[in-house]
Amino acid sequence: MGDQDHPQVPHRGWRAMALHTRMLIGFMVGALAGMACYAWAGQAPWLDMVVAYISQPVGDLFLRLLFMLVVPLVFSALVLGVVEIGDPKLLGRLGLRTLLWIIAVTAIAVTIGLVLVNVFQPGRGLPAEVGEHLLAQASQRAGDIAARREALSARELLLNIVPTNPVNAAASGNLIGLMFFALMFGIAATVLRTDGTRTFVGTVQGVYDICLRLISWVIGLAPYAVAALLFTLTARLGWDVLGQLARYVGVVVLALGLQTFVVLPVLVRFLGGVRARAFFRGAQTAMLTAFSTSSSSATLPTTLQAAEHRLGVPKRVSRFVCTLGATANMNGTALYEGVTVLFLAQFFGVDLSLLQQMVVLLICVLGGIGAAGVPGGSLPVIAMILGMFGIPPEGIGLVLGIDRFLDMCRTALNVTGDLAASVVVARSVGETVVPVTEPAL
Ligand code: ASP
Repeated sequence: MGDQDHPQVPHRGWRAMALHTRMLIGFMVGALAGMACYAWAGQAPWLDMVVAYISQPVGDLFLRLLFMLVVPLVFSALVLGVVEIGDPKLLGRLGLRTLLWIIAVTAIAVTIGLVLVNVFQPGRGLPAEVGEHLLAQASQRAGDIAARREALSARELLLNIVPTNPVNAAASGNLIGLMFFALMFGIAATVLRTDGTRTFVGTVQGVYDICLRLISWVIGLAPYAVAALLFTLTARLGWDVLGQLARYVGVVVLALGLQTFVVLPVLVRFLGGVRARAFFRGAQTAMLTAFSTSSSSATLPTTLQAAEHRLGVPKRVSRFVCTLGATANMNGTALYEGVTVLFLAQFFGVDLSLLQQMVVLLICVLGGIGAAGVPGGSLPVIAMILGMFGIPPEGIGLVLGIDRFLDMCRTALNVTGDLAASVVVARSVGETVVPVTEPAL
């Protein structure tokens, strides 16, 4: 990462460890301390104070620092990505292959999820009184989410790709709109080679470099932030809800695990020519960041670093694929949407035929593209799908209590999927991908 231009000062101890090792330590310390405090103090006021005044603000600060960089990074990475590709034909090939990958691999993920829900039937195993209790507990939030789905329609989702005002799109978190604008800008800057456009591209390069430097500073805080985020979660969550919904949680985690640790490495090995070990070693920091932040967008800076500096994916491919992938390529989210819709259908006794399940699959693939890369981004999409099949959208309240934990797991898969896509797409357009073996961080 970007310290090459500084004389290297040998570090000792903690600072000498690779970043992902430090993050792993932060992760364990935070999780164990949180669980111990929960077991020991439960709902004690002092624990609430520690969470409210220490661990939560520290975690939030880290998230805000990452989010702060997302808009300039998305814009500059995409403009430069397109300009570096240079040739509109190659851009077309890259775009097409990325799209193909997104659709095919997301469909595999959702299929795994749907098959497992049909086999294990988690919705039929849940006692009605537990269900009612959970629904009553989360009714307020579930109602809000169900109301938000009104704002979502397939037509609006498609139209929103083209923003009427790019500044507004950036300000309101419409990243797809911002990406569309950046892609158009990049294409025009490639076609039109004047002094002015060259200066513009140089400036955008400056913005990108500055973002990377800022990110390397922010990422240095990751081990502490990860500890704080995990502490907040485990000290607050406890494990009761997890136990009540054990079968559902088990199905989601199993399906996510199969996609992350079986499907993706096989594809990366055979289509991308990179071994599973090297792939996961390179992806580790990004996976941990995704797991701790539950946000693909907040993880984007780390994803780009992992792709370029650890996996050795050429910049012109990684910038395009990973940046687009952070909002559009969501294996984990689509899988989760499918499992949850079927789980709730089972719970409410709504029978979905095979054909209807195929429609769910299709919508989930689109839902993976449409969901925002923020914590809980898929919930409004799930509420929309539930409504389409006559399942009460408020049923989402049943799973809200454990959503954060499952969000962490599915976001880790989303980001792993982006990195896998960058490796395979790079190889498919004739680039060589050579993962770095030495710890570079
Ligand atoms: N948190 C997920 C992400 O950012 C989106 C979701 O599934 O809620 O990738």
